[in-house]
Amino acid sequence: MLIKDVSIIESGQLQPGRDILIDGGKITNVGRDLRDESDDEPIDGRGKLAIPGLINGHTHLAMTLLRGYADDMELMPWLQEKIWPLEAKINEEDVRWGVKLGCLEQIRFGITCYSDMYYFPDATAQATKEMGLRAFLSGVVFDMKPELLGQVEPFIRRWKGDELITPAVGPHAAYTCSEETLLKAKEIADRHDAMIHIHLSETREEVDGFLLSKGKSPVEYLDSLGLLNSRLAAVHCVWISPEDCYLLAERKANVVSCTESNLKLTSGIAPLNTMMKAGINVCLGTDGASSNNNLSIFEEMKTTAIAQKNAYHTPADFSAEQIWHMATENAAQAFGLNLGLRPGALADMALIDLKKPWFWPQSNIISHLVYSIAGGVDTTIVNGKVLMQNGVIPGEEEILQKAQERFLRLTS
Ligand SMILES: [Zn+2]
Repeated sequence: MLIKDVSIIESGQLQPGRDILIDGGKITNVGRDLRDESDDEPIDGRGKLAIPGLINGHTHLAMTLLRGYADDMELMPWLQEKIWPLEAKINEEDVRWGVKLGCLEQIRFGITCYSDMYYFPDATAQATKEMGLRAFLSGVVFDMKPELLGQVEPFIRRWKGDELITPAVGPHAAYTCSEETLLKAKEIADRHDAMIHIHLSETREEVDGFLLSKGKSPVEYLDSLGLLNSRLAAVHCVWISPEDCYLLAERKANVVSCTESNLKLTSGIAPLNTMMKAGINVCLGTDGASSNNNLSIFEEMKTTAIAQKNAYHTPADFSAEQIWHMATENAAQAFGLNLGLRPGALADMALIDLKKPWFWPQSNIISHLVYSIAGGVDTTIVNGKVLMQNGVIPGEEEILQKAQERFLRLTS
């Protein structure tokens, strides 16, 4: 497949007139006047910008069904009074349509890969494959439902080696999993060389609780169990000390920051400045659409930049370039993906319509992508397959209707 005459970003500048050649799920060439030997219809890239596909580093995609269901609350009452009671009713079919709705939205926001933690991971994996996205999926584990732990390894065995789905291990948090559960999760992850995906130090109450009961922060506690390593995606890390930051950096753990969810649930603002100084690989996630309430990494970039500038009064830090790097290259590093518009990289990308007013005057393109974009993703490609072209996603109407039915069933 050939994308003809598209603009790309090189050294921060818009470079028009490039062709991108794709074969077998990979980019094989980027240049001028390229020829495609296949019979595929070329994609007209004129007036469009190609970017590497975005990664949503943390979400609970099935919870897209719960968008707008429980706003204006803080984390623990939100979970205990609204989310957990409703989730007790969620079945596999709800998850399937919630995930498809979330995939639709991510395709529309140029997201080609996401990392998820939820119930019924097989239904999530199946629905994701049908939608064509790439994903790192973990079934959630916590002690309230002890049977979940036993389902982790069979799930990994079923999906290991899949082209699009990478199974992972998802202990919910250090405050919802016992030491025994966390050690077992680590053992499984080590055995399969899988990532661990965990919520960590999200609220001040969580951290105070650990300091009081164990004399350690949640980060130090996980380190004492051997969980901090380069296969860890530690989500949130809002309440972490400089010592925690240096420990995470030393162990090469990745942090997924979810600024909008943290702000909406009034959990706080993560000290990304200290994390970056310590050398932690930080990337971005939306969290579930029930605490965000959308799945836009573009919006997450802008909010992260302006929240960080204000929280630490560092107007010159968290530049558009730094945030863009966090959302693209840091995310690719965290998940071990070869992403970028270059030969050999995965053919995961989005084409954005540059003829939208928020991209004009055409000056600083990275700044426009971080601060001013308000839509315009036109085409999304994953693993060399076109999932959306000219804004059209086949089957969209059915997914919207089914999601509505499932929401009504859950809330009736
Ligand atoms: Zn979460």
